[in-house]
Order: sequence, then structure tokens, then C-alpha cells
Amino acid sequence: MSPVEVTRRYLERVTDLNPKLNAYITINPEALSEAEAVAERMRQGEALPLAGVPVAVKDNIVTRGLRTTCASKSLERFVPPYDATVIQRLREAGAVILGKTNLDEFAMGSSCEYSHFGATRNPWDLERVPGGSSGGSAAAVAADLAPVALGSDTGGSVRQPAAFTGVLGFKPTYGRVSRYGLVAFASSLDQIGPFARSTRDLALLMDVIAGPDPRDATSLEVPPRFVEALEARVEGLTIGMVKEALEAGNTPGVLEAVERFRTVMEGLGVRFVEVSLPSLEYALAAYYLVATSEASSNLARYDGTLFSYRSEGEDLVEVMMRSRAEGFGPEVRRRVLMGTFALSSGYYDAYYGKALKARRRIYQDFEAAFAQADVLLTPTSPTPAFKLGEKTQDPLAMYLSDTNTVAVNLAGLPGLSLPAGNEDGLPVAVQLIGRALEDERLFTLSMAFE
Ligand code: GLN
Repeated sequence: MSPVEVTRRYLERVTDLNPKLNAYITINPEALSEAEAVAERMRQGEALPLAGVPVAVKDNIVTRGLRTTCASKSLERFVPPYDATVIQRLREAGAVILGKTNLDEFAMGSSCEYSHFGATRNPWDLERVPGGSSGGSAAAVAADLAPVALGSDTGGSVRQPAAFTGVLGFKPTYGRVSRYGLVAFASSLDQIGPFARSTRDLALLMDVIAGPDPRDATSLEVPPRFVEALEARVEGLTIGMVKEALEAGNTPGVLEAVERFRTVMEGLGVRFVEVSLPSLEYALAAYYLVATSEASSNLARYDGTLFSYRSEGEDLVEVMMRSRAEGFGPEVRRRVLMGTFALSSGYYDAYYGKALKARRRIYQDFEAAFAQADVLLTPTSPTPAFKLGEKTQDPLAMYLSDTNTVAVNLAGLPGLSLPAGNEDGLPVAVQLIGRALEDERLFTLSMAFE
């Protein structure tokens, strides 16, 4: 099939099904002509690793000429003048941007319900959430409204929605994928990551988007070798079962998925040991202090004076205050308030300073665990997808299920969520955590499990 034909079929499918799922906020009106341009490059003999592959992109990754809303009223009409590095690399590789997907406003949430454009629904059960914040990208890949997609992961936003929708989702080592053009939420935690329905597709995407970028000072000089890693052997590796993550709170189906993964891997010669992360219990508290503190600073720019939603007022201060009050939804306002409070003088040492210490402890726990095992195993999320509306009235309940994913961002490590079973007809998943820069090894294991 030609790039144009593939793109046309996907656009038809999106037109049919998106009204039900609300996975996309914006369809790229140029998708077909961009596919035509790719076809022309192929005729010229260019070798394109992603020739004509349609990609769905989370709407907090900027795309030149295509509006990028962050699912916020404040950026409802923002059309970026440049492409994010990942988008530039996708285009060079011959991919076609199909459209921009739904998320929790500014990537703050775990259900894709806190969106100015309405909730996304889980293709497995329309009464349930697809997870978040990259729920639109996850639902799009699960329902084949795109073969692959990009999301962003600050505390689990790629891995948890991947788990809830039965697809693969990957959060790279901090610095392996450029953040240039990713709208910042919490800069020390944010990473862009891919979704796919197979390990190979996930690897193909990583080989295109990862690698050093002079435009992101935190990007690392490590070339991606993901497809190569698919051929490696798993025999002789040691996996550490994280004790604290397997204790209370997991549903039976989630625990069965962990056991299933273990049985398959043991059959392939992988050794299992138990490891402990004693500070895991502080991960959530540390995460919500670090993430909200950084967010309160990053979101200061949306004051109505430059490119975001602008309200009316008597003077500049009133315009700014009203623009922010009206432009941000409830969860974003809550987080900016929490972060501003945590950073304010007199509270800084008690909250932000403590959170940094806990973050350091968590990192050290991981280091100790990796002295005993090459890769660690946890459930991605302790339960399958929950119902729409179930947790929106109780922000704390929404935060609580993210422990296993947020710890990985605090330590900057790579984390891969892979589907490993189902419970009452809903997908459940396990998470593999690697040492820093050993991202590729997780793909070797995932490929062996598949
Ligand atoms: N659910 C977490 C939060 O609400 C993680 C979000 C994310 O990774 N962007 O902050």
C-alpha cells in the first residue's frame, strides 16, 4: 500500500470511530498531502525507516502549523511556529502525523478526564477511562486509529494508559529522547515515549526519536540501538521482583499477570530474585511535591500576554489573574497552588527540600536493587482501568495508584509497560524497570515474552 492509501484508510477509520472514543483533539488537515510528499521522496529513492507510517501525537508536543492545545482552554488556539525534535525526526524518517491526541490538561492526571475537550474512552469498555495522561494516544493505538503514537511520561503517563488499554508503552532513561518542543510540566521528570502494539514497532520508533540533541541540554550522547536489541538473548539475566510493589493493593488479575510473565521468562532461562525498595512508600509524596513545584514555575508563562488565552480586566495584573483563572481547569489550578505553596519561603525546607531527600533515597534504593538484579519487575498499575467519573471527585484516590510508575521518573530510569493478561475482559500489564541507559535490555525481554 502506498503512503497515501495507508493514510487515507486511517483517516477514514478515525472519522468513523473518533466520535465514540474522543482519542484525537485535532486531525491533521495536511496528512494526505504530507503522505503524498513522502511517496515522492520514495520515488526519488530515499531510504525512509518509517516510510508512510501514520503516527498519532500527544497534544503537548509541538507541531509546526498544527495547533497544540495541551487539552487546555489556555492554549485552545495556539499554533506553534516550529516542530519538536521528535516530530522533526519522525518527518525525516518518512512518518506522517495523523493528528494530535487527547490528554489530561498539561499532562496532569491519570485518567484523561481532565481535558478541556472532554474525556477519552477506553476502547475495551466505553464506560471506563483509558488511563492518563496520554490516554488519547493509548486509545488510538489500542483501537487502531493509528499504528503507533507518542506520549509523554512525567510519572507514568505513557506506561499506565498503555497498561489500561492493552498496548506497549515505554518511558526512556531521562535524557535519551529530546524534550525540545515538549510543553514542560515537570522538567526534571518529563520524557517523551512511544506506544505500539508490538515490541518491534516500539523499537523502530525509538531508533528514530532517541539520541542526542543540541537543543536539549539534558539530552545524552547515547545512540539508540533498539531494533538491534530485539535479537539479543535473555538467558542468564536476573530479574528482581520488587517486594513492596507486590504486597497489598493489587487485584488478583494483576498478580496473575506478574506470575505469567515470570513463568514464561523462567522457561527461557531468566533467574528471579526478590529485591526491596524500602523508600518506595515515599515515592508518591516526593513526586507530588517535585512535580507540582516544577509545574508552578513552568506554567507561569501562561499569563495571557504572549500566546495563551487572554481575559479582560482593568489593568495588566487583573488581566493576568483572570486569564489564568479562566484558562486553567481545576486540576491544573490545584497543582499550581500546591507547587507555589511548597516553594514559598518558610515551607521550602519542610516540603520541597524533604522531597529532594526522599528522591535521593529512592534513587539509592534502586542502585542497591540493581546490584542484585539486571532488571526489576512490578505491576504497572495495581488495578485494571477504572470507571469514568470514579476518581475525579477525589484527587488523592487518583494519585494513589501511581506509586510504581512515579518512582521510576524520580530516579530517571527506563520503564516499559507490557500487556500480560486480562481481568474481567480488561487488560492488565507488568512494568520492567532497567538501569539508567540500559533501555534496550527491556526490549530484549519484551520481545522474548511476546
Ligand atoms: N498521573 C501522574 C500525574 O498526574 C503522572 C502524569 C504524567 O506522567 N504526565 O502527575
